Amino acid sequence: MVLIKKNIIFSDVNKLRGVGKQLSKYLKIKRIEKVKDLLLNLPYSETDRSKITDLDKLEIGKIHTIRVKIKKIYFPRIRNLPNKILCENATGKIEIIYFNSREGYLRKLYKIGEIVIISGKVSYFNKNYQITNPDYVTPLEKENYVKQKIPKYSLTKGINEKKYRAISEQILNNLPDVEDWHDIHFLKKNNFFNWKENIISLHKTKEGQNNRSQSYKRLVFDEICANFLVLSKSRKKIKSRKKNKLFKSILSNKIINQLPFTLTTSQKKVFNEINLDLKSKTRMFRIIQGDVGSGKTIVSLLAVANAIEDNYQCAIMAPTEILAKQHFELSKKIFMNTNLKIEFLTGKTENSKRRKIISDLENGNINLIIGTHSLFQKKIKFMNLGLAIIDEQHKFGVRQRSELAKKGGANCDVLLMSATPIPRTMIMSLYGDMDISKITEKPKNRKKIITLSKPEKKINELWLFLKKQIDNDNQIFWVCPLIEDSVHLDFSSVKKKYELINKKFPNKVGFIHGALNKDEKEIILKRFFKKEIYILVTTTVIEVGIDFPNANLIVIENANKFGLAQLHQLRGRVGRGNKQGHCILLFKDGLSKKAVKRIKILKESNDGFFIAEKDMELRGFGDIIGFQQSGIKHFRFADPVIHKDLFELAEKYINKEVKNEKKFTFLLKLFDRAEIINQNID
Ligand code: ADP
Ligand code: MG
Repeated sequence: MVLIKKNIIFSDVNKLRGVGKQLSKYLKIKRIEKVKDLLLNLPYSETDRSKITDLDKLEIGKIHTIRVKIKKIYFPRIRNLPNKILCENATGKIEIIYFNSREGYLRKLYKIGEIVIISGKVSYFNKNYQITNPDYVTPLEKENYVKQKIPKYSLTKGINEKKYRAISEQILNNLPDVEDWHDIHFLKKNNFFNWKENIISLHKTKEGQNNRSQSYKRLVFDEICANFLVLSKSRKKIKSRKKNKLFKSILSNKIINQLPFTLTTSQKKVFNEINLDLKSKTRMFRIIQGDVGSGKTIVSLLAVANAIEDNYQCAIMAPTEILAKQHFELSKKIFMNTNLKIEFLTGKTENSKRRKIISDLENGNINLIIGTHSLFQKKIKFMNLGLAIIDEQHKFGVRQRSELAKKGGANCDVLLMSATPIPRTMIMSLYGDMDISKITEKPKNRKKIITLSKPEKKINELWLFLKKQIDNDNQIFWVCPLIEDSVHLDFSSVKKKYELINKKFPNKVGFIHGALNKDEKEIILKRFFKKEIYILVTTTVIEVGIDFPNANLIVIENANKFGLAQLHQLRGRVGRGNKQGHCILLFKDGLSKKAVKRIKILKESNDGFFIAEKDMELRGFGDIIGFQQSGIKHFRFADPVIHKDLFELAEKYINKEVKNEKKFTFLLKLFDRAEIINQNID
């Protein structure tokens, strides 16, 4: 017996007996590199070899275990004929067949006159029962090794059950005791096994095959805890000491008084939360979550006003040029009667202008810079950046966030804004390191958007509706489906639609797509803004953030291609002023049941958070946009829909236990989180 020590769990799998170079390679395909990966590779089913079957009761095509006497062995001297072993017992006869097996090997395995246990899939050929290449052939005294329900793992070429079992049992049968990171009362209270028992139960009972079993739940809970620990550590690092900002909200109050509307209660509350952060001696790391059109931008600009009052520089970054430009224009308006210097920088800014901006930033001549991600290039240095705002950035991962915070310097507060409402379990696992401010209400003048659906064949019925909208001075977005990986096809689908619609409404239509350059896009958007055109045919480039208060109808083609959350996001582009907004979803063929259900949800609710929950229930969380790119390691076992309760439990638990972080070292290593923590934190 090999001596199994505790640290074997994190050793390379080739430390186990029988694992050489070749096998290591195959195991790697199955993501098994360390011994602990074997433990986390759960069986998906089991093979029942536990009963000895009489030879007159065999079922063809099934796996059986038999106990037989070896009668004769044939090694035919003609090529391509298989080797054959004749076996029998009181209940009948059977042939064991081997292709390509060496004679010496078989003679050792099969000794005439001996009784053996054989297990494998039974077939029938030439009026004989046969087992070809049996899974197990064992002498009688070892029959208990075969006569079992044997866990079935997803394997790959080069590894069969027997081989895999030999290595996995080496560790499972000798699993060292590990000091549990959860205390015994907690385990008892939640009906959890201790770690070792739990792993064994996952492999040796059916618990590992059921993601709601108690053993599985303990595993999931641990995985969530590992994730939350990373976030909480990241938070600790980011929320370091800073100089508190001093301001009396003179400028921001002035702006508020000049707004054509009053802030909603939600907006006020969130602004207040931000102010407290700005004034505090620890850095702000906050995300504003608010549905499309809930008015996040103005709140962030008010925060800018306060930071600037204490002579700090501010930066606003948006994911697209159009959006950045819009923020730029709005800022110029908001800060019109001040002498603040506001600049705009994107990847396309001319070199001479760029050089000037870079030096002005460094000298502190610019108070507010607005741009795309090019704001965070190495070359760009601020004199005293005090507030960095990132709009629509639900795709930022943990690492990028902490990099950003680092870049800003010790006194830089960080504010993120996201209009992608995501379910609570995902908020916890994506933004658990941040403070969260939610804008839950929409401006009062905002009406619920009326959502309708139509089959594409009936597109002609739309023209009258469109005409009425235009007669009422309403503008229209017409969204063509995005054609993956093909700017060219995008262009042609947009162009075609443009031509069709332009025939109906000559000179009132424009189009925009990914292949246009900045200037071309801008010209068209400007024309749309000035109402020189009334219909804008576009791809989903308009999805994020742009604000056209006069757009009141959006038509979305091929709407079944989009998730609920994305449709809601698109729909949020219209009805931002005080007129009634409409959304028409066009579908290719007859609607599937699921599609009908989806439309119903969209028609009934205007609440992005509710829709996000539903979207996740319908599509599963893996499909939720942005999660894959989030940079946060995927959960392997936890599913925010199925294990919602465990996310909630883990949230409370980690808040309490995080002080004792040392005891979680093993856990973090188990789920490959230890490295992420170090990368992030140092
Ligand atoms: P989002 O939260 O999607 O970024 P915006 O900040 O772009 O939303 O705001 C959408 C529109 O609502 C803008 O035209 C803005 O001027 C307007 N708005 C913001 N707050 C209010 C409010 N309290 N009352 C009325 N309109 C508002
Ligand atoms: Mg916005």
